Amino acid sequence: MHDPNCIFCKIIAGDIPSQKIYEDEELFAFKDIRPAAPVHFLLVPKIHVPSLAQVGAEHAPLLGRLMTKIPALALEQGCNPYPDGGYRVVVNTGAEGGQEVHHLHVHVMGGPRPWRVG
Ligand code: AMP
Ligand code: ZN
Repeated sequence: MHDPNCIFCKIIAGDIPSQKIYEDEELFAFKDIRPAAPVHFLLVPKIHVPSLAQVGAEHAPLLGRLMTKIPALALEQGCNPYPDGGYRVVVNTGAEGGQEVHHLHVHVMGGPRPWRVG
């Protein structure tokens, strides 16, 4: 399930280079090209789901796996431990939600403040 016009599908396929930090059979993670924080990566499902608005019960196991992958990846990438450290997890959804790339993705941002946004 790939969208030939989708930049994140192309990144997952290796057709566009990225700074990959993690990959398994269902998930792919890479550094955000315009980091808003000292640590800023995107975690995405490999299947093309346009946004959180298209998610249904059939995606629950996949999204459960995605969410539970975040803590270890965040620490590996340099986020400081909870509770003094931590990170923001953001899913922009639709135009009014600030979504620019229409392939479901979770932003994970952390590291010492101040950040560019947030
Ligand atoms: P959103 O506004 O939630 O759709 O965020 C899209 C994010 O994708 C932005 O933070 C961009 O900086 C990031 N982005 C866009 N193109 C690339 C790319 N080729 N490699 C890494 N990150 C990208
Ligand atoms: Zn896609």
